[in-house]
Amino acid sequence: MALIIGLTGGIASGKSTVAKMLLELGIPVIDADQIAREVVEVGEEAYLQIVKEFGEEILQEDRTIDRGKLGSIVFHDKEKRQRLNSIVHPAVRKKMLMQKDQYIRSGENAIVLDIPLLFESNLTHLVDKIIVVYVDEHIQLQRLMARNGLSKEEAEARMKAQMPLIEKVSKADAVINNNGTIEETKQQLLNILAYWDVL
Ligand code: ADP
Repeated sequence: MALIIGLTGGIASGKSTVAKMLLELGIPVIDADQIAREVVEVGEEAYLQIVKEFGEEILQEDRTIDRGKLGSIVFHDKEKRQRLNSIVHPAVRKKMLMQKDQYIRSGENAIVLDIPLLFESNLTHLVDKIIVVYVDEHIQLQRLMARNGLSKEEAEARMKAQMPLIEKVSKADAVINNNGTIEETKQQLLNILAYWDVL
């Protein structure tokens, strides 16, 4: 039986860094953000539903969805946001599960679902174990400002928009403390995987 591991964290907590380590260890990682972009590519089922719902005015000249335009429409309108989510979320879930099943069929003994909003989107039932990547707030703030070139205020606003990381920690099966060096983070990951017998 393959162990299905959910990987999550907060913005700039180090989730992508850990996902990369998992890939380097040969463990397949299914990336929810990447799939969310794929399911709205021209011609996909979710794409067609979105165009039907929001009209051709959300398209760019090359017929791809203008994310900025769609984003600003749903940002100000809760009902429209819910309608968009009700198209995109099931499509993402379906594609993730299809990829997971393929990896199971090919005999993988661990499969990681990298889902930033695992808790917020109530997707915990999709996984057997949850790893939360944690950092202290002041380090998170520094790394977010550096990575995204944001001011302190902008970075704080993005952090505040999410479920507090400490709350995610309380729901985790395993926590990686990413305050230290990359090497220390890698060692914690190896320990967790060894404990779960998937290395
Ligand atoms: P997330 O995917 O959770 O948003 P990232 O993995 O992109 O976070 O990490 C956020 C930023 O912090 C990136 O620029 C990354 O290179 C850096 N970073 C991550 N972990 C460490 C670490 N242990 N030490 C120093 N920098 C780190």
